This record gives sequence, C-alpha cells and structure tokens, in this order.
Amino acid sequence: MAEFDWIDWLRERARESAARPDVGLGIGDDCALLDVPEGMQLAVSTDTLVAGVHFPPETAAADIGYKALAVNLSDLAAMGAEPAWFSLALTVPEMEWDWLRGFADGLLELAKEHDIALIGGDTTRGPLSITVTVHGLVPAGQALRRRGARVGDDIWITGSPGDAAAALRQLGGPMQSMKLRHRLNRPTPRVQAGLALRGLAHAAIDVSDGLAQDLGHILAASGVGAELDLGRLPVSSSLLDFFPDDDARWRLQLAGGDDYELCFTAPASEAFAIELAMAQLGVSASVIGHITAEPGLRCLRPDGGELVLEHAGYRHFEAHVH
Ligand code: ADP
Ligand code: MG
Repeated sequence: MAEFDWIDWLRERARESAARPDVGLGIGDDCALLDVPEGMQLAVSTDTLVAGVHFPPETAAADIGYKALAVNLSDLAAMGAEPAWFSLALTVPEMEWDWLRGFADGLLELAKEHDIALIGGDTTRGPLSITVTVHGLVPAGQALRRRGARVGDDIWITGSPGDAAAALRQLGGPMQSMKLRHRLNRPTPRVQAGLALRGLAHAAIDVSDGLAQDLGHILAASGVGAELDLGRLPVSSSLLDFFPDDDARWRLQLAGGDDYELCFTAPASEAFAIELAMAQLGVSASVIGHITAEPGLRCLRPDGGELVLEHAGYRHFEAHVH
C-alpha cells in the first residue's frame, strides 16, 4: 500500500470520528489551520511511544493506537485543558494494511469519545514509533499547574494506581490477569475530571512514571513536602488478588507508572466539592495524604512505619529495577 492511499483513507476516517467547526483546514495541505477562540490559551503536549519501551512488542495494533492518544490526552487532563486537535507522527517498518487499520481503529475510537480532531501528521519508515501532539483549550490563566501546592493541602489520586505496573510484572509469567492487562493497554485519560478540577485544585499532574516520582514533581515545583498514608491508597480487587503482600503492592502502586491517573492537591475546604464533582463524573477519587512544610516525600504504613522506596518511578536513562 502506498503512503498516500493510507493518508487519504485516514483523512476520511478522521473526519468521521471528529468533525469540528474550528478546523479551518485539516489533513491534506502543508499545515493545518485552526481557530483558537478569543480568551483561550492553547495547551500543547507531545508524547512518543516506542515499541518495546512503552508497550510490549506483541501489543495489538488497536491498543497501541488507543494508548498513543490516551497518554497525550492525560497530559491535557492534568492541565485542565479541553481536547481540541491532535497530530500524528507515525514511523512504521512497513505499510501493512491490517496493522494500520487496527491502529487507526483504536486511535480514532478514543478521538471520537473526546471530540478531538486529527489534523495532520507525518508517515515515515523505520522501527515502530508513534508520536502524538495534542492541542487543548483552556481559559486564559486557568490551567492547572504542578506548582501551587500549599502546606496542609490534601493529596488526591483518581482511580487506583498500580494495575498497569502489575500487568507489566506479570508479562511472560504463568499468572496473567486480563483485567490488569487491559489497564496497561487502554489507560483511561481523566479528561473530564481535569476540567472539573479547574478552580478547585491547587496543583495537578498525571501519573505516567510512578506516583512517588510524579508527586515529587509537584513537591519540587511547589517547594513543599508530603506525607502519604499508604493505608488510604486505593487498590483494585485484581491488584489485591495478585499482589496480596502489602509492601510489594505499595511499591508497585508508588513506583510502577503507566497509570495515567491524576494526582492533585487541594485545600480541605474544597474536599466536598471535589467529591461531588468526581461522583457526578463517575470517577473515583481518594485523599491519600497531605502536603507538609518539611521537604521530601514520606510514605507511612498504617502502623506508622515508613516505607522507603529505592526507586520512585521510571527513568529512561537510568538503570533501574521495574
Ligand atoms: P509534506 O511532505 O508537505 O509534509 P506529507 O506527504 O508528509 O506532506 O503529508 C501530506 C498530508 O497528510 C499533510 O497534511 C499531513 O499533515 C498529512 N499526514 C501525513 N501523515 C499523516 C499521519 N500519520 N496522520 C495524519 N496526517 C498525516
Ligand atoms: Mg510530511
């Protein structure tokens, strides 16, 4: 299949999945032309997925497509930005129709769900790698940032972390949970939750590299510390089934990564409003600790003992135990 057949096909499919009036010119010219509404800021973010690094090589094409957009939508969610447009730089070893169609199915299924339009990209030959750039809209000055956490703030997490890391751990082993695997392959970007948190949260981040490490970014940017109450860390029933040992499970939840949940801080006075907003969206959210003046992150077991982490999360350029 020729590259241009693929682009023509993709253009049609993209149009069906999200037709937005603010796309002046989409796929087909040298640039896309987009209308940014008055008073809004453009929130832009890029994430790359590389085969064997960000997903196991045997991952289904549709799951790869889904995840490539999901991890980028998660960044928009963390800023409280509404998804608008995205571009796709796709590097594939060959133009294999079945793979491309599967990939586009997963990608555009999620695009449709969030009304985000594919407006351009690039298609090249090479080892499988997918780079998505998302563009979102946020009222000027209202984006959620990493800085802004204040001493005494509650620390919250959406959903329950650790499932994706657990699935990675199980890969190739005798015990594999389909539920955990699904969390790894199809993470849920918390876009609506992020929008609802504007004006409520002081600081926010999405958890991609591990809760401890990503919360650490909030702490560093805000010049504060934190205490986490491990007994309050929400846990899925599958994770509990497969990882009954508390310390081992907490380590997965704190340092595993690939969760794409939102970690945010907010004053206790907003706790009720947050509970209500999350309940209306059907998103679970839990307070798991609080911000302290003393710098650093302390993770406390229910008995008061501290769990010391050798690895706070995933780092591409360091030897680590995952
Ligand atoms: P150019 O050589 O001018 O960069 P291309 O041949 O790379 O043009 O792309 C032609 C059109 O198809 C452009 O509008 C580009 O944005 C779009 N396009 C190419 N690859 C993709 C892709 N993987 N996803 C979405 N749009 C793509
Ligand atoms: Mg090009």
